[in-house]
Order: sequence, then C-alpha cells, then structure tokens
Amino acid sequence: MSEYTTSPAGIPGVTVLGATGSIGASTLDVMARHPQRYRAVALTANADVDGLYRQCLRFRPSYAVMGEPAAARELAARLRSQCPEIRVLSGSAGLEEVAALPEVDCVMAAIVGAAGLLPTLAAARAGKRVLLANKEALVMAGPLFMQEVRNHGAQLLPIDSEHNAVFQCLPPSAAERGLKTAGVRRILLTSSGGPFLRRSLAELAEVTPEEACAHPNWDMGRKISVDSATMMNKGLEVIEACWLFGAAPEDIQVVVHPQSVVHSMVEYVDGSVLAQLASPDMRVPIAHALGWPERMASGAERLDLFSVARLDFEPPDLERFPCLAYAYEAVRSGGTTPAILNAANEVAVAAFLEGRAGFLDIPRIIAATLEAVPGRTANSLSVILDDDRRAREYAQNRLQNRLQNQLRSHLRKRLRNHLQQDRQP
Ligand code: NAD
Ligand code: MG
Repeated sequence: MSEYTTSPAGIPGVTVLGATGSIGASTLDVMARHPQRYRAVALTANADVDGLYRQCLRFRPSYAVMGEPAAARELAARLRSQCPEIRVLSGSAGLEEVAALPEVDCVMAAIVGAAGLLPTLAAARAGKRVLLANKEALVMAGPLFMQEVRNHGAQLLPIDSEHNAVFQCLPPSAAERGLKTAGVRRILLTSSGGPFLRRSLAELAEVTPEEACAHPNWDMGRKISVDSATMMNKGLEVIEACWLFGAAPEDIQVVVHPQSVVHSMVEYVDGSVLAQLASPDMRVPIAHALGWPERMASGAERLDLFSVARLDFEPPDLERFPCLAYAYEAVRSGGTTPAILNAANEVAVAAFLEGRAGFLDIPRIIAATLEAVPGRTANSLSVILDDDRRAREYAQNRLQNRLQNQLRSHLRKRLRNHLQQDRQP
C-alpha cells in the first residue's frame, strides 16, 4: 500500500461521509489540527442542515451533500449568499459522486447503517483510501466489498477502534500472507460490555433509550450506542473482523474489558500477545488511519496508566446478550444472512429508540427475522439489497403485530376490570 497520491492542489483531498455525526466531527477535528496536510473536498449529512451549514462555513469544501433532497434545497439557499462556490448535491447519487471525485484521495466512510453501503462501495470502486467506520457496509456485503477493494486497488483502513488496534498489532505482511502464515493464533476483540454489563435480565427488560445511550466510556451516535448496550456492536465487529483480516469466526475471541483502554489484541503462535492501548477517544484511530503510515497528533488525551491503575478482562455472557451469539451464527451461515441480521437489528433499534419496542424485544425481533427470512448465496449486490429489504419488511410486520397484540391484551384487561367493578354490589 502506498501513501497518498495527492490531489492537483498538492494537499490530499478528503470526503467525509457522515460529517455531522460523532465520527465525522472527530475526523474534522483531527483534520483541523493539520490544515497543511488535508483539505475537505466534500462533506455530507442526511438531514442536519444546521450542522452541515456550520461545517461548510468553517471548512469551505467544494461540495456539500444532503441525503434528504428537501434538506439539500434548504442548505443551498442558506449557502448562496455566504459561500456561493460550494456545490450542493443530494440523495444517494450525490453521496456516491463525492465518494469518487478525482480530486479526492481519501474517503471517511462514517454514515451510520445500511445507508452507507453504496457510497462506501463507490469510494472503493474509485480506488480511494477508504477509512472504514461504517461497519454495517462490511457486515452486509463483506466478500463483495473486499473484492471491489482488490479489483480497484483501493486501500482499506479500519477506523473502528478494535479493528484499528488489530491492524496496528499485525505485521504489515499479514494482509497478503494470511493470518496463519503470519503466525497469528487468534484475535482478541475487546468490548466494554456497554452500559448494562451488570444488569440482570429482569432489569434489562425495563431500561430506557436514554440509559442505553449513556455509554460509560465512549460518546457515540445513538444507533451504535444501543448496539453497544445489546452487544450487537461486538457481533457486527466480529463479522467486520472476519472480512477485514481474512479470519475465521472461531479465530476471534471477544473479551469484555470494562475500562476500554486495551482496544484489542493479537495472539501469536509463540504465545506473544500484542495489544494497542490508548485513551478511549476515536480521534486516535482516525489520526492513525488518516496519517498512515506516518503518525500524527490526534488531540486525544495521553494515556495515564497510573490513573487507569487496573485492567480487567472477563468472558461475555451470551445469555443476557444473545445478539453476540446471533452474529457468530450469521457469519458462519454466510451468504446474505449477515445482511438479514443487520437489517433486523436496524429496524429493532430504531423501534426501541422511538419507544415502540422494549430493550429485550431487540434480540427477539432479530431471532424471529433470522428464522423467518432464509439467507441466500450473496452473489450480487442486488441479492444482498433484496434480502435487506425482505428482512426489514418482516421485522416491521413483526413489530406491528406485537404492538397490536399488546393493545388488544391491554383493552381486554381494562374491560375485565370494568366488568368486575360493575358486578360489585
Ligand atoms: P452518528 O449517528 O453520530 O452520525 C451518522 C452520520 O451519518 C450523520 O452525519 C448523519 O447525518 C449521516 N446519515 C445518517 N443516515 C444517513 C442516510 N440515510 N444518508 C446519508 N447520511 C446519513 O453515527 P456515528 O456514531 O458517527 O457512527 C457512524 C458509523 O461509524 C457507524 O457505522 C458506527 O457503527 C461507526 N462507528 C462509530 C464509532 C463512534 O465512536 N461513534 C466507533 C466505531 C464505529
Ligand atoms: Mg468498535
């Protein structure tokens, strides 16, 4: 893998997909610390006009893209007087266009969920350096995505802190030679355990979206925060690690490590275990991948081992956090099953965040969808997208039926109470 080719302006051009999110904002923070090294060519968001407008004023990109067309019209109107030179695009076509611009060297893929798949693929097909935060893209279409990376000479660098840590602990030759030839015995993927690590199943049934989004160590978007609370985030990361590093699921051991200081480890056949440690701040992996193979300042606080004092490790509890087990099963089944798992999870998490489902309904809906929607060989993008759609439809119907049943039983109970009161003398 080589360094940046550099854009005509002489400074590497960067597209930040999902610029207004948690990872997007951290990326722009790192870039702002090195204005001579990077230029923001394109910034994108879904519907947050205020957020993207402010970023446009500060970073003066050549392009701004809103996923929602109405939001793009509003942004264009607001930018007209202040920065008429910024081209405003919209929709999936706009996102794909800015991921593949000739003046762009590097694409930060930080859209959340399945919406990130097509623009991230467009960056890979255009042979860019792809900084992958959007793990859902790889979960949905791992083999196809990796093939596109190889076919088009793209560079794929992991942003997920665990995968970035594994990347740092592997020898550079591991990608070409394979893990076993490089002497790797297994990958130890650490997990904070999320905000509910010590809650019982009865307690988990009552938790609220606000509690789920209050992660003890990381400040993240709402969807990944809930994934972290159910441990589906770790499940998606196991699948991500399989494709990124050419690992088998049984070569990946999840290790619960509540302090989030060791970001992951690689165990070698001679018994050595290499770990990457840092303060829990996503600017560390972002700066690593942006600057790779050089190192540069990230703005993160230095790790103070004396105040950390101790590091704990324990096995995951699959009974309270079954989503992790579903992810292992899905990657073993292969084909479109991981895409079905991901789609059901996105529907269930959105319902939980909107108060239409309880926390424990998330694993229930995923399990029911995996059973009802059979996976297929994932030999094309259209098959993957089709199964993504089928899984979403099934999960939505399941949720709706559940809500109707709950309403019916609630009404029956009220009617019974009413009749009992009537019968009393
Ligand atoms: P976030 O919710 O904070 O931000 C998401 C971004 O994507 C926003 O800019 C939003 O406008 C954009 N977006 C959402 N839906 C879109 C759509 N339909 N079309 C176009 N744009 C859309 O999320 P985040 O926490 O920054 O996470 C982003 C990705 O990075 C996720 O895949 C997550 O799993 C991964 N990741 C995040 C962290 C973290 O610390 N936040 C760590 C590791 C991996
Ligand atoms: Mg992670």
